[in-house]
Amino acid sequence: MTEHAPDLIIYEPEPVDVPAAELGEGPCWDADAQALFWVDIPAERVHRLGAGSVHSSWAVGQPAGAVVPRASGGLVVAAGSAFLSLDPLTGDVAEIAAAPGLPGTRMNDGKCDRAGRFYAGTMAADESPGKGSFYRLDTDGTVTEIFTGLGISNGLGWSPDDKLMYYIDSLDYRVDVLDYDPATGQLGERRPFAALGSGEVMPDGMAVDSRGGVWVAVWGGGVIQRYDASGRLTSVVRLPAANVTSCAFGGPGLDQLFITTAAGPGRLAGALFTCQVEVAGLPTFPYRG
Ligand code: CA
Repeated sequence: MTEHAPDLIIYEPEPVDVPAAELGEGPCWDADAQALFWVDIPAERVHRLGAGSVHSSWAVGQPAGAVVPRASGGLVVAAGSAFLSLDPLTGDVAEIAAAPGLPGTRMNDGKCDRAGRFYAGTMAADESPGKGSFYRLDTDGTVTEIFTGLGISNGLGWSPDDKLMYYIDSLDYRVDVLDYDPATGQLGERRPFAALGSGEVMPDGMAVDSRGGVWVAVWGGGVIQRYDASGRLTSVVRLPAANVTSCAFGGPGLDQLFITTAAGPGRLAGALFTCQVEVAGLPTFPYRG
C-alpha cells in the first residue's frame, strides 16, 4: 500500500473539444507557440491544439508513439522503427535515423532531456513481453540502444535538477528511477521508485513538475497519480475514461495538466482532458539536432 498524504488533492478535469483518439498518447507543450501536440498511435497521426483552440493534425504513415518540437523548426516523431522529422507547414515526413528493433515491435513513448537528446522506447505490437528496447537519438543524429528485453516501454521524465531519470516499463507495474548525468546522458542503475497496478491496470506515461512531483497515468485505472519526490502519493486526477495514457504540463503558467486517454471502458474514452493543478510543471524540451 502506497503511503499517501492526509490531505490528498483530487482533481476532476474537463474534456477538450478535439476529436477523440483511438489511442491518444505522448502529449507535449510547445511554449513558443503555446500549443499542445499529441499522437494517436494506431491512427498514425500527430495532433496539435493551438491558440484560439485551433485543431490540426498530420498523417505520419507509421504508428506514431511520441512527438516533440524541434529547436531548429518543425517536429520529431518516434514512429514505426525510426525517428522522423515532420514539417507541419508541408506535412512532409522524412527519416532522421532508424532504430531497428525486433520484428513486430514499434515505437512507443518518448521525450527529450534538457540538452535536447530524444529518448524513445518500443514495444511488441501484440504486447508480448521482452521484445522492447529503449533508444537515445543524440543531437548529432546517432541512435544508441540503451535497454533491451523490455515489455511496454513507456513514460519518462527527469527531476528538476536533471540528476534523476524516471522510467516506466508498464509490464513491470512500477515507476523506476535512475541516476542521470545531464552533461553526457550517462545512466545509472534502474531501481524501483513506486509500485503501481496489477493485471490490466498499469503505469503508462508520466510528467514531472517543478517541485519534483511525478504524475503517472494509470492505464485501466482512470486516474493520474502524483507522487512527491519521496514516493508519497499526494494528488489524484480522476478521469471518466479508464484508459489514461499520459499527461503533460502546458498553458502560460505551465500549471495546466493535459491528459490523453484511449478507447475502452468509461465515458469520453479517447478524449483529451485538462485541469489546473497546484504546481507548475517542467517545460517540454525540444530535440536539438
Ligand atoms: Ca504509453
